Amino acid sequence: MSASESAIAAAEAHSAHNYHPLPIVVTSAEGAWMTDVEGRRYLDMLAGYSALNFGHGNRRLIDAAKAQLERVTLTSRAFYHDRFADFCEQLADLCGMESVLPMNTGAEAVETAVKTARKWGYRVKGVVDNMAKIVVASNNFHGRTTTVISFSTDPEARADFGPYTPGFEIVPYGDLTAMEAALTENTVAVLLEPIQGEAGVLVPPPGYLAGVRRLTQERNILFIADEIQSGLGRTGRTFALEHEGVVPDMYVLGKALGGGVVPVSAVVSSQEVLGVFRPGEHGSTFGGNPLACAVALEVIAMLRSGEYQQWASELGEHLHHELGLMVGTGSVEAVRGRGLWAGVDIVPERGTGREISEKLMDRGVLVKDTHGSTIRIAPPLVISKEDLDWGLDQLRAVLAG
Ligand SMILES: *Cc1c(COP(=O)(O)O)cnc(C)c1O
Repeated sequence: MSASESAIAAAEAHSAHNYHPLPIVVTSAEGAWMTDVEGRRYLDMLAGYSALNFGHGNRRLIDAAKAQLERVTLTSRAFYHDRFADFCEQLADLCGMESVLPMNTGAEAVETAVKTARKWGYRVKGVVDNMAKIVVASNNFHGRTTTVISFSTDPEARADFGPYTPGFEIVPYGDLTAMEAALTENTVAVLLEPIQGEAGVLVPPPGYLAGVRRLTQERNILFIADEIQSGLGRTGRTFALEHEGVVPDMYVLGKALGGGVVPVSAVVSSQEVLGVFRPGEHGSTFGGNPLACAVALEVIAMLRSGEYQQWASELGEHLHHELGLMVGTGSVEAVRGRGLWAGVDIVPERGTGREISEKLMDRGVLVKDTHGSTIRIAPPLVISKEDLDWGLDQLRAVLAG
């Protein structure tokens, strides 16, 4: 057995099989490149589902983490610490909002958004107790907790995990008429991904998000944008909603906020909305810890320069141009996305997304299938044009083979 094979066998023997990883065992990584236990190098075109927007081992982020590791890493929220105020102030400012509630993982932040919207509904909007409804979209992905999978439409995510949390209404993504019909006096929030990542990088029709913004504003409903995957530079802007000129009532952030170093998530909103919480009503032992704040502060500073968004936009245009040329050549059916983010529908006869991913891996490129014959391309935003072009050459070779 090779070093990889024995490491994989051991992992499979001693872990729950809740993932089906590609058969690569990573031991180190830098920038857009990962190295496996046998010394082979791979171009990372997944970037931890956008958690690694700034690349592996980013010097600024590692230095910020190291410095904080030497000072203080965890206080719990029983005490204040000296990175907390800065983190909240800077993140609120980046979002053009007022207030921050820090958590750790994306799913926790979504849960936090749900609780916030419900409480806001009862205390501010005046919805009758226990009647609050949140409207979500079909094919959404908002995480894996029991409440969050309760409003998933993916059978794999839901089956055998009931009973489900009530209080959600599911409407087709991108259909403004259906959205309008679903809104009632009990609707406290609409929760959407501005671009649906897990669904295959689905971009809604032009005007949809602006339409949702108009409807929710007219009816005193919170527009919650889950920008966990789409936000923080990926699409060429700080937030994907910016492409539509839309400002939500609440951002849900995660993934890249932790710089690929530590899990950091947050709900960011107005004083009015997040002001509904009183001590004891919500929290997390690790949420907003000093290490998380130190890393996230560096992430925010890096985003403020605008250079990552600029590169994602510039190189993203090149990526979509190159992918667009593959459409209709007999191997690629369709391409969607924005910035350095693409869902590529492979002609099914060419193989499943999984098979294509495995063939790309053999050529030193790492991507991940989403559903069926769709692969997702989302390299770190620090990738060079040369590396991206090399990765695209490998994709062309796999599709030609
Ligand atoms: C990844 C993701 C989540 C869940 O984040 P976790 O950190 O895995 O819990 C939620 N929403 C979206 C849009 C995501 O991409």
